[in-house]
Amino acid sequence: MSTVQGRLRIAIQKSGRLAERSLDLVRDAGLRVVKGNNDLLYRVENYPIDLLRVRDDDIPTFVADGVCDLGIVGENVLEEGRNGGPVAEVLMPLSFGRCTLKIAVPPTLDYDGPRSLEGRRIATSYPRVLRRYLDDHGVKADIITMRGAVEVAPRLKLAHAICDLVSTGATLEANGLAARETVLDSQAVLIRSPVAPEPALAELLDSIVERMAGVVASQGAKYVMLNAPRSALEQITAILPGAGAPTVMPLSGRDDAVAVHAVCQEAVFWETLERLKAVGASAILVLPIEKMM
Ligand code: ATP
Ligand code: MG
Repeated sequence: MSTVQGRLRIAIQKSGRLAERSLDLVRDAGLRVVKGNNDLLYRVENYPIDLLRVRDDDIPTFVADGVCDLGIVGENVLEEGRNGGPVAEVLMPLSFGRCTLKIAVPPTLDYDGPRSLEGRRIATSYPRVLRRYLDDHGVKADIITMRGAVEVAPRLKLAHAICDLVSTGATLEANGLAARETVLDSQAVLIRSPVAPEPALAELLDSIVERMAGVVASQGAKYVMLNAPRSALEQITAILPGAGAPTVMPLSGRDDAVAVHAVCQEAVFWETLERLKAVGASAILVLPIEKMM
């Protein structure tokens, strides 16, 4: 595959757990995506950008080799793809696609730490990541690589333990397995090619990255406005979750009170509002933030 002259490329998962949120992020960054009759490639109509829709396993290589300029992929896939070749640069975590790569064992295996895996057989779809983990813990074990349905390996006597992705743990439980060790905490990340884009596209690439950072930063952030007695300012600032220095403005005709505006990076709960009220805040408004830069 060769890079199309004059267009940037972003690699995203075609279908699966990351597909929808990846497309949302691209759209929220202001890219108008048009689905053509080519399933592999979606065009962006308002910028010279194409979305390459592929299997997630292919994304790290495409980005590392410069076939794509940016990519969205799970850290687990990125780590598994490391093979000493060129690597994509991780630009930022994206706060979706969270999961954990865990070692899980059936009740029949007497488990007392990673040492209990010595000489055992472990089934996984992530052999490289697991090997590094075992090496780090000085454990020698056999790894058998399975593409899917790893959780059935112990029942089929294919393996003594498994190393698989877990989000809720329901699949493990349904198969009578108990999670014992965390090998890797993962979420989707934005990655960038080490290969520079055409000079004419460099600025566009930077601005897309900056916009995506803005989208991620504004997720969950809230704009809080309230009136407060001047004397309670310090307490109020301390209660506002994840706010920097708030903006404090005079209220006309009131010397004893001020208006406080703040961007809160963390969730603002009812409890927070109740605490603000308890120290004298009134007219409290919590507004969603659409864009942030
Ligand atoms: P593809 O066809 O693109 O290769 P896949 O079957 O390898 O898809 P998915 O199951 O769609 O992959 O998962 C994509 C990514 O979603 C995973 O690599 C991981 O980063 C993330 N993820 C989040 N939660 C889970 C989970 N519970 N199980 C598996 N992956 C999860
Ligand atoms: Mg895959």
